[in-house]
Amino acid sequence: MTLAPGSVIGIVGGGQLGRMTVLAAARLGYRCHVLTDAADSSAAQVTNRATVAAYDDAAALEAFAKSVDVVTIEFENLDVAALAKVAALVPVHPAPAVLAICQDRLAEKARLQALGVATAPYRPVGSAAELADAMAALPGRTVLKTARFGYDGKGQQLLAPDADPAAAWQALGGGPAVLEGFVPFLRELSVITARGQDGAMATYVPVENQHRNHVLARSIAPAPIPPALAAKAMTLAEQIARGLDLIGLLAVEMFETADGQLLVNELAPRPHNSGHWTIDACAVSQFEQLVRAVCGLPLGRPDRLADAVMDNLLGDEVEAWPSLLAEPGARLHLYGKFPIRPGRKHGHVTRLQPQG
Ligand code: AMP
Repeated sequence: MTLAPGSVIGIVGGGQLGRMTVLAAARLGYRCHVLTDAADSSAAQVTNRATVAAYDDAAALEAFAKSVDVVTIEFENLDVAALAKVAALVPVHPAPAVLAICQDRLAEKARLQALGVATAPYRPVGSAAELADAMAALPGRTVLKTARFGYDGKGQQLLAPDADPAAAWQALGGGPAVLEGFVPFLRELSVITARGQDGAMATYVPVENQHRNHVLARSIAPAPIPPALAAKAMTLAEQIARGLDLIGLLAVEMFETADGQLLVNELAPRPHNSGHWTIDACAVSQFEQLVRAVCGLPLGRPDRLADAVMDNLLGDEVEAWPSLLAEPGARLHLYGKFPIRPGRKHGHVTRLQPQG
């Protein structure tokens, strides 16, 4: 089904990912209706249609669904049952079933395994006793993560082999959880692929991601890896998107090991922070690909027009905006998020490195 320009795209979530989706949609003549739980949210600031309601407010969701032509999401911690009710009224991309997999680390890992995709070794954990067994089964350091609602390192603990399972379990605050073997990775990479309603895919080059305090600080595009490994990473992302029968965007985070293996860490069925560089360095950004995919339009070419380095502006780093504006070639993006709080994502800056 093709939705012509002028149609209304519903976006669940009011953050900067929604904001940049609205801006991309507007460029193609679409309207957006943002459903957000906070007034004056980053996304709502850039459209004249917004509903402020809790994400599980059935009446608000129904009215929202009836006022739009298609729905997409910009964050994952949503109630799948509530989204399924929206999907009964209007097409939702990605499908609630895809969201259900991606918001649960155990379901995600099981699906990856079924697709033949390598991950870090892991064990499901539901109690302190199971954690003790899992630690015995996974030699060396391990990482304990809540299965649901963890992001940016929240709900995560690095465990030494001799750590006390009871104390670690208590600190996690209950399960379900997953224990992963610690991967001594060479680099963290991510690949973003867009998949259209006809199954066509457009995949960006892998980028290298550098984190500070578990939060993405910098993405380098392209990742400085051999072409064969880059091709392997892109094929892997496409294989997963196809395997999930996803329509929209899929970000695949992976670890590159010293022996050239790629272990998938996490999936996100939405625009991703590591794809912000595509706004300035590609003819078609990740946000425009999302609009094209959910509206049934042909995808754009994901070709890179320049190499790029994207730096997040976290907390008071955003106060450098005057000097960033003065810097030749720096492309500044601010999200309109106030007040400034430590660690909060307030914007990003992309620096292009034109090729030869
Ligand atoms: P996640 O919430 O799964 O994306 O993890 C956040 C960050 O923690 C990752 O980007 C890695 O830097 C680190 N991390 C997560 N899992 C592992 C692992 N199994 N081994 C090593 N580092 C990890």
